[in-house]
Amino acid sequence: GAAFPTYKKIMSVIESDAKEKHLIVNGVECDPGLIHDKWFLRKFPDEIYKGIEILCKCIKFDSVTLAVKEIKGLNYPKDLNIHKVQDYYPVGAERILVKKVLNRHLSHKTVPADEGILILNVQTVYAVYNAVCKNIKADTRFLTAANIREKTGAVVKVKLGSKVNEIMEAVYPQAGHVFLGGGLMQCRMADDDDIIDRNTNFIAIADFPRYKESPLCSGCGLCASRCPVGLKVNKIAGLVDAGKLEKVQGMRAEKCMNCGSCSFVCLAGRNLSSRVKAAREYCKKG
Ligand code: SF4
Ligand code: SF4
Repeated sequence: GAAFPTYKKIMSVIESDAKEKHLIVNGVECDPGLIHDKWFLRKFPDEIYKGIEILCKCIKFDSVTLAVKEIKGLNYPKDLNIHKVQDYYPVGAERILVKKVLNRHLSHKTVPADEGILILNVQTVYAVYNAVCKNIKADTRFLTAANIREKTGAVVKVKLGSKVNEIMEAVYPQAGHVFLGGGLMQCRMADDDDIIDRNTNFIAIADFPRYKESPLCSGCGLCASRCPVGLKVNKIAGLVDAGKLEKVQGMRAEKCMNCGSCSFVCLAGRNLSSRVKAAREYCKKG
């Protein structure tokens, strides 16, 4: 699996006393700029389908769904339910996907597996197939390597533990700042000793984002309207700027999923997600 061990997720679903059990195979790249899930779905349909069959032998699911953003070009048996979701960010986030596929609302404190919902990325399902049928260890992963300056990207297969900078030198030999992370919206600059781990979905050459940090919030409300968890982002950011962290209690900042959408849309160029992050950390401590 990604950061969370797959067997633990599976065991949680097996042990869950939920009345219904559901499997959602997540083929929905969450962040803009990721291209490897789409490629993966088309490259390994047989392996992914067999991986799903193996999971269905472990757990009697009431529904099995492959969630994707685009159906065109997919070649899967007709008995597999394929659910096309809208292409927006962050539709691949687990709770949002559950809402889209099962029409169920899960609070930010609820773990889907405890509710009988197993959500696995397509690459994890492929790894299940490889482990069970071919005895192949999951010590590699496919990810997106992008050159943001030139708006190009490639799917690369890398060994876990490889140095990020060395991979980028091989894929894009031109010099540049290297970033890594879960995706375009949640990446950071790579250090010399950063390695590929199970969380790495995205490595890129890019320039630093330039936040204008205008103090003049127009009150347009765009940040709040784009927040997938419905936070009053500008109000929280204003309280953080004013040093009134105690007043963010009750504003649900702990629900922030750090997607970065608020900073992206802010016309005043404010780095809002870092402010909400500060509020979130304050609330968690409190
Ligand atoms: S970073 Fe947090 S506050 Fe900003 S849009 Fe995403 S969830 Fe909302
Ligand atoms: S998007 Fe920016 S300018 Fe608009 S309300 Fe939010 S913080 Fe203010």
